[in-house]
Amino acid sequence: MMFHSAALKLTMWYLAIIMALSIGLSVALYYVSNIELTKSANRTLDFYNIVFGPDDKGAFSNERLQQLSKDRAHLRNNLVLFNVGVLLVGGGASYALARRTLQPIEEALEAQKRFTGDASHELRTPLTAMQTEIEVALRSPSLSKKEATDLLKSNLEEVGKLRNLSEGLLILATASNNDLPKQKVLIKDAVEQAAQAVAKLAKSRKISIKTSARPIQVVGNHQQILNLLSILLDNAIKYSQPGGEVELTAKISDQQAIISVIDHGQGIEASDLPYIFERFYRADASRSKNHIEGYGLGLAIAKKIVDLHNGSIEVASTPNMGSTFIVKLPLTKHQPIDI
Ligand code: ADP
Repeated sequence: MMFHSAALKLTMWYLAIIMALSIGLSVALYYVSNIELTKSANRTLDFYNIVFGPDDKGAFSNERLQQLSKDRAHLRNNLVLFNVGVLLVGGGASYALARRTLQPIEEALEAQKRFTGDASHELRTPLTAMQTEIEVALRSPSLSKKEATDLLKSNLEEVGKLRNLSEGLLILATASNNDLPKQKVLIKDAVEQAAQAVAKLAKSRKISIKTSARPIQVVGNHQQILNLLSILLDNAIKYSQPGGEVELTAKISDQQAIISVIDHGQGIEASDLPYIFERFYRADASRSKNHIEGYGLGLAIAKKIVDLHNGSIEVASTPNMGSTFIVKLPLTKHQPIDI
């Protein structure tokens, strides 16, 4: 509704500009043509007087003047018709142009609304859990020290989740290519640090991590590349069966750094694949079956980081066989010597 009336207003403005130009030009054309028509009539009259002698009764000059006023009326009518045409065609074109101008703004606003709606929905879940626990505890006539400690522990867990969520949201909402300080990043270092970062989680799930990385250099933000690899590794571990193996490799191919994260876990259904990089999307399996923690933000953040580095991310996956996420990043001009 708001965009409809904005489109109409914009149409009016476009049309007013078109009509001002068209009417201005028509008036100028009318005056110039009028001068030419009058000159031509005078020339005919002069010629007639010279050839046939002065016209006593003025019959010829009356005839010529009548013809002149007819020509003027004809010209006026044509110009009015032309302007009516411009008004109709210009009106239609202006409306189409106004809709086109506003469409990206409308889409951005729609996405913003969805994002805010999804974010507040996700924020509500841990907040409600905390609120309920606190209310129940307050209603209890005698709260033991152990119960109070348990409550605080559980609340702290929820606070941790809220913190992760808000950090993820912040990255998605604010980071743009210009905000990101970039330097030369050695992928090998990032690979090793990412493996370290998830080592505790991997151990608790009895999953072994194998890394193999060539000394590859890209231009980027070390911390963000580390986040990217940690998100992919974290997922590979989360969605693997205990005892499984996760692989992280980095090599050069086609003048690009190719980083692969391979797991042999639950995999992703083909019907979910097109959506997993969307914000808050979680495949049904991860919601229902094993209650694997997450907000569906990891891959959206990963994709954002890859985009900020002018790279690409793709996935190949077979349910119950595992998934391979492949990140491609542009290389720096000079690469470290590979020994
Ligand atoms: P989260 O893991 O928090 O749910 P992500 O954005 O990281 O959110 O992932 C989105 C969805 O993609 C997950 O819910 C899961 O269904 C699927 N997914 C991501 N990585 C893997 C993986 N390695 N194996 C199987 N499914 C995965």
